[in-house]
Amino acid sequence: MSAKPHILVVEDEPVTRAKLVAYLEGEGFEVSAATDARDMKTIVARAIPDVVLLDINLPDDKGLTLVRELRARSSVGIILVTARDDETDRIVGLEIGADDYVTKPFNMRELAVRVRNLQRRVAPLMAAERSASGQFVFAGWRLDCDARLLFSPAGDTVRLTRGEFDVLAALARNAGRALSRDQVHDLTRHDGEAVIDRTIDVLVGRLRRKIEVDPRQPCIIVTVHGVGYRLAAG
Ligand code: CA
Repeated sequence: MSAKPHILVVEDEPVTRAKLVAYLEGEGFEVSAATDARDMKTIVARAIPDVVLLDINLPDDKGLTLVRELRARSSVGIILVTARDDETDRIVGLEIGADDYVTKPFNMRELAVRVRNLQRRVAPLMAAERSASGQFVFAGWRLDCDARLLFSPAGDTVRLTRGEFDVLAALARNAGRALSRDQVHDLTRHDGEAVIDRTIDVLVGRLRRKIEVDPRQPCIIVTVHGVGYRLAAG
């Protein structure tokens, strides 16, 4: 199981927008849609997507301004959706940091391939940026270590005790690496004082009941026999 890459479609034309969302969801992406620049800014403020498909002809803001703003804060993949006579804007868009463009009318299948290729290219950069800002994504879940919040794949917040949160954060910061119980214990200490008084195993058991599809056959927090636990990367 791995996290679905998050694609944001910014498009004011309802029919094109609906088609893009449906097609990309069918390709296995998690897709958000924005109808204008303001909408896009709200979504991006919540969580930066992996790739933005950006219509450069929006009613409320020039698409190119958005390219500049996105690029200033992130390595997010940017594909411009342009009209045939947008040649100058297209070139400027690429100059200021867009990665690719398509011209309307475009072939959905080709577009999906471009999105997939770009998403793969930016994935390591996005993972590094997110962890630097205390955001960890795994199996569709998102852990925000600054806000101390856990979001489910559906976007709901899930309540965690302090101990549960600290254990999950320790595993997430070391995703893909096996940690011993002692290491987890050390990583969850604050100010030299252990914040958890129960064993790591109990906390992992509780976390599994909250985040695993089948807690008896965990595939997010995996047991590493003879060592401890590992959070599945991705
Ligand atoms: Ca438009």
